[in-house]
Amino acid sequence: MPDSTIVVGAGAVGLGCAYALAKRGQRVTVIDRDPVGDKASYGNACALALTDCMPLSTPGIWRSAPGWLLDPLGPLSIRPSQLPSLVPWFWRFLRQATMAKVEACAAAQLQLNGRVWQDFEPFLQAIGYADRVQKKGMLKLYKNRQSFARSPLEWRLKRQQGFQIELIEREQLRAMEPAVSSSKQFAVFHPQWQIVDDPEQLLACWRDWLQSQGVTFVSDEVQALLSDGGHIVGLQGAKKKYSARQVIVAAGAWSAALSQSVGERCLLTSERGYNTTIAEPGIEVQHMLMFAEEQFVATPMGQGLRIGGAAEFAGLQAAPNYQRSRALLTLAKRFLPELGGGQGHMWMGHRPSTPDSLPVLGPSKKSQGLAYAFGHGHMGLTQSITSGELVVEALLSGNGAHLAPFSISRFDQ
Ligand SMILES: Cc1cc2nc3c(=O)[nH]c(=O)nc-3n(C[C@H](O)[C@H](O)[C@H](O)COP(=O)(O)OP(=O)(O)OC[C@H]3O[C@@H](n4cnc5c(N)ncnc54)[C@H](O)[C@@H]3O)c2cc1C
Repeated sequence: MPDSTIVVGAGAVGLGCAYALAKRGQRVTVIDRDPVGDKASYGNACALALTDCMPLSTPGIWRSAPGWLLDPLGPLSIRPSQLPSLVPWFWRFLRQATMAKVEACAAAQLQLNGRVWQDFEPFLQAIGYADRVQKKGMLKLYKNRQSFARSPLEWRLKRQQGFQIELIEREQLRAMEPAVSSSKQFAVFHPQWQIVDDPEQLLACWRDWLQSQGVTFVSDEVQALLSDGGHIVGLQGAKKKYSARQVIVAAGAWSAALSQSVGERCLLTSERGYNTTIAEPGIEVQHMLMFAEEQFVATPMGQGLRIGGAAEFAGLQAAPNYQRSRALLTLAKRFLPELGGGQGHMWMGHRPSTPDSLPVLGPSKKSQGLAYAFGHGHMGLTQSITSGELVVEALLSGNGAHLAPFSISRFDQ
């Protein structure tokens, strides 16, 4: 194992790093407390969200957040017991809400997303999953055209990037998605979005491929990174100590404790998301649907129709509050009136979220041989392969200059 690069975390981002290393002929060990178990990457909304670029913190968030918090069907909730520990995160989040910072974040996000499909397509071919990812596209649904016109920044940024989007009027929307109620009268079609048939099965296929390339998976809980003389030397696990000259931390929402163990602070929190998958919804949905005002999505995927969203700030330990899933289903029935299929299967996952909605990518400033790949928030499935490529390139070349917007040192300011 000393010659092997250790990746901590077997979610999509850790597996993306392992893929990039294995492709380059490197020996790789992935350590995860539960490599095949539940994680954010396992039950998400299945989207390769190629045109998504807007950070969560935008000018005007001050006005919207109180209403969301008060609405039991609203997209945002915060457990009061978590508030003290969340103050630094939210303070930074609110300071991000300026036009200049939003533009800078969107540009950085598009730096990644601009190459996602170029990276993802050959990966899907390599692991044998290409025919289970479909270019269904995403329809962002609005109450009416006026409501769409209230978010000009998002559309200006997307148009500047040359993204092809199509404005869909009422009649065309009815023809495209007859199951959607007439309370949605306008939509924007994003033909680029790809839908993964089933993220759980994608991960299984990905792990099998990595194992076939000699990647080793170890079940252990990593307690600390071990650094000596400014160079990473290994990890302390719950079961044993591991030696390594190269380590990538890709431990999702749990990564901050590990970076902290070598003295690197970052602002990372769990933004818990919920969904319900209905095996037999009794309606046909052709595209992924995003309900713009209510902020939830419905994805037609292998297991049925997956309805999800919500941002719950309740930390890593608290039990899931499936009332959030039920609230999303109630909301969905408002806009998909024929939706049937009972209560479905409910799920919660920890999105690893930073206040600027950008991931932490690139080399550590404190310990040579150490790199970070976490904090992907709503975009971890989409950006997994690209992040793996960029982080591994930076780790192996020792040059992370191109990853400056994503550096962990941005949290020093
Ligand atoms: C409801 C919902 C819907 C979403 N929809 C989408 C979508 O449509 N498209 C998209 O791109 N993204 C989506 N996301 C976001 C995406 O799922 C996440 O960004 C992504 O899965 C994060 O991947 P990860 O590998 O960083 O973390 P995870 O998948 O959480 O994996 C982290 C792994 O690290 C392991 N680990 C942590 N700490 C330790 C430790 N100390 N020792 C050992 N192992 C450790 C954990 O066991 C876990 O297996 C969604 C998220 C949610 C919750």
